[in-house]
Amino acid sequence: MVVTILAAVFLALMILIAWAGYKFLGRQTSLPDEVPTSTCSICKIKFPTKELVVRQIADYKLMYFCKKCILNLYSDLGLKN
Ligand SMILES: [Zn+2]
Repeated sequence: MVVTILAAVFLALMILIAWAGYKFLGRQTSLPDEVPTSTCSICKIKFPTKELVVRQIADYKLMYFCKKCILNLYSDLGLKN
């Protein structure tokens, strides 16, 4: 009987540890949600910085361009040529 209770307690402890580990991992995987964002210099919409093209203008100003604006610029160039 005592062994059964010990086994049950041990099992409950294992489940608790697994649950705590799952919670901890869940918190870790939710961290990338807070990725740094930057505003596109053309459309002024915020995007994750890694999805934007960054160009430095005149040694100090950084400009960000989103994919949509780059494609728009590309199509504008295509219409002229
Ligand atoms: Zn844009």
